[in-house]
Amino acid sequence: MNKSKIWLSSPHMGGKEQKYVQEAFDTNWVSPLGPNVTSFENLLKTFLGKDKQVVALSSGTAAIHLALIVAGVQQGDEVLCQSFTFSASANPITYVKATPVFIDSEQETWNLCPVLLEEVIQDRIANGKKPKAIIVVHLYGMPAKMEEINKIAQKYEIILIEDAAEALGSSYHGQKCGTLGSFGILSFNGNKIITTSGGGALVCNNDIDKNKAILLANQAQDEAPHYQHSQIGYNYKMSNIVAGIGRGQMEVLEKRVHARRVNFEFYQEKFIDLPEIQLLAEPAGFYANRWLSCILTPSYEIREKIRHTLEEENIESRPLWKPMHQQPVFEKYPSYTTGVSDDLFKRGLCLPSGSNLSKEDLLRVVQQVKSQF
Ligand SMILES: *Cc1c(COP(=O)(O)O)cnc(C)c1O
Repeated sequence: MNKSKIWLSSPHMGGKEQKYVQEAFDTNWVSPLGPNVTSFENLLKTFLGKDKQVVALSSGTAAIHLALIVAGVQQGDEVLCQSFTFSASANPITYVKATPVFIDSEQETWNLCPVLLEEVIQDRIANGKKPKAIIVVHLYGMPAKMEEINKIAQKYEIILIEDAAEALGSSYHGQKCGTLGSFGILSFNGNKIITTSGGGALVCNNDIDKNKAILLANQAQDEAPHYQHSQIGYNYKMSNIVAGIGRGQMEVLEKRVHARRVNFEFYQEKFIDLPEIQLLAEPAGFYANRWLSCILTPSYEIREKIRHTLEEENIESRPLWKPMHQQPVFEKYPSYTTGVSDDLFKRGLCLPSGSNLSKEDLLRVVQQVKSQF
């Protein structure tokens, strides 16, 4: 038996990345700005469409932080946040000394429940405080129910921040994830659908927001011959070296999405005769990049049995995200839960999903999962 390591989601270079990095060295643009950054931003802008403005940054987390500041979120404000997510969606809320209020997911997409969202907004208003912003996440690349969520955000005039860190290449009724809110954020961390080794981007609706974000990302340097600052800034710019990797990765993005969707279809087909294993279907009009292929098992015990078996076979897998309302660091904040994300966390497992996996790799995973039934 071949026991070589199978990773959950590992970097997958397209081939041109080193050429763009070399160009940066050859022209001495070894700096936090330069032609690679400009080109990478333009490629993202073209890919996303809808005439959005894109700022390349050092991480997706930095992008959420800047979105909150540009949105005007301040100390003491409340920010509604999908509870079923990675901690990076919520951490920046505390950077601006605002209070996260966590909201559970619905079962069809595993993302923010619009019905609960409206109830929570009404409850917070009744408590005396209208929330300042909403952070919705397209988890595992599955778009959230954006039409319903956008309607609510508009009805109550609350800023909508779209965490599309896992959803580059996903779309919702033909529109790309990351372009559906007041702000969108992307991540190019090593495990994401494309990577720059580490990096992110903020997607804005207009030049004013974009310029505010650029100013903040560049230590908030006022226009002056000397160094002058009228507000607190950050060092969040993307390096021109890193952006070179991004340029190469953009050339293969569509291929990467396709490969991940093929992985998902492979799993789906192989598990079709195993009713104990469920996969998340795409509702009509939803197009998921299938960043990670996830399964739901009948129970925590069976999930753990599968996970341990895979581990023994040198196959990496991972329980679904532990909801934020269950995290020790966030327990003290308000949360509105229905049990949906608690159940997903208990029974769910992410299977190896990289665009660089072979059919043999996937078959090894399938055989191990099946052996448990
Ligand atoms: C990866 C991720 C982030 C953060 O992106 P970084 O680039 O790693 O800072 C934010 N939200 C979600 C849902 C993520 O998966």
